[in-house]
Amino acid sequence: MSALRDIIAAQISREGPMRLDHYMAECLLHPDHGYYATRDPFGAKGDFITAPEISQMFGEMLGLCLAQVWLDQGRPSRFILAEPGPGRGTLMADMLRAMRAVPGMAEAAEVHLVEASPTLRAVQGQRLSAYAPVWHDSVESLPDGPLFLVANEFFDALPIRQFERRGEGWAERQIGLGADGALGLGLTPPTNYALLEHRLLDTQEGDVVEICPLAPQIAGRIAGQIAARGGVAIVIDYGNWRSLGDTFQALKAHEMVDPFADPGEADLTAHVDFEPLAQAARAAGARVSAMTGQGALLERLGITPRAQALAKSLTGPALEAHIAAHRRLTHPEEMGHLFQTLAISPVTAPPVPGFDQIDH
Ligand code: SAH
Repeated sequence: MSALRDIIAAQISREGPMRLDHYMAECLLHPDHGYYATRDPFGAKGDFITAPEISQMFGEMLGLCLAQVWLDQGRPSRFILAEPGPGRGTLMADMLRAMRAVPGMAEAAEVHLVEASPTLRAVQGQRLSAYAPVWHDSVESLPDGPLFLVANEFFDALPIRQFERRGEGWAERQIGLGADGALGLGLTPPTNYALLEHRLLDTQEGDVVEICPLAPQIAGRIAGQIAARGGVAIVIDYGNWRSLGDTFQALKAHEMVDPFADPGEADLTAHVDFEPLAQAARAAGARVSAMTGQGALLERLGITPRAQALAKSLTGPALEAHIAAHRRLTHPEEMGHLFQTLAISPVTAPPVPGFDQIDH
């Protein structure tokens, strides 16, 4: 039985049932036993694999997108190039390499990383040492200036709360202790929440809805800086405009596992709702693109010609792996549709290339 399980069980015995967002935060970020605090979870031998780890083309396309925005916004001579949740630093390294095709851009970039995990900070430091990155605990401390930010699979790691519809109110799912001492879900008595008022219109008795309290806060902070100082934010994640149902999941060694069985030992995530991100960004004075499928975005940014160019120097299994990676990133039955993207930019700047636009 894990040490973190005992810590959580002791806290529940003392203070009563624990909110799901608090449980998720403990499991992911507890300084001694949290999932991210203690390991590098990526790759075939790890628990999951992300788009930049599948192919260098992912970061290259996003780097070129940022480059076009930098040109469109008058080539600011200094800007903040930021990534929350940079993993192994692969995406940032690939973006910077692509940006070097645009004279002056990489030199103007100040690299800032928002990372909670000391283990991953060390990996990122090695990967990105040439760029002397500066680390932050949260987006709140990012320095002032034009902000160019990419967040891939960051928002899905932020803690969520879950509610079940009961009449015109909501019972919150919380973690309690069963008679056998096992952690399990229970329900609070139903309450009304102003935050969930609009969900009374599109749900029925028993439906589950989720909220991620930090997500709009972070999106608003980023969007406020972009509206005032210029730049762009690109958010990429699995999710939808507005979720319905339980999307909380635990992944270990590429398999779904019980999120309450072994706290701290599995990656916990939930699908990202893009509507609250867009609303917060708009409220902060920024322009927001339409939600755009990852496959469509990468195609418009030129992933297929890039894939063909790279394929010329490959043969045999390496070529097959390259073709499979292109398909995996873009095909609607793989990541192309499950992963959605959103761009946040100043209302005064040209639209961000590759994204579906909406009238403002
Ligand atoms: N963007 C990377 C990694 C995604 S995994 C990629 O595409 O490969 C999620 C990343 O977010 C990890 O680096 C993890 O340590 C970090 N993370 C998770 N929760 C965080 C939080 N609350 N604050 C800062 N970083 C966080």
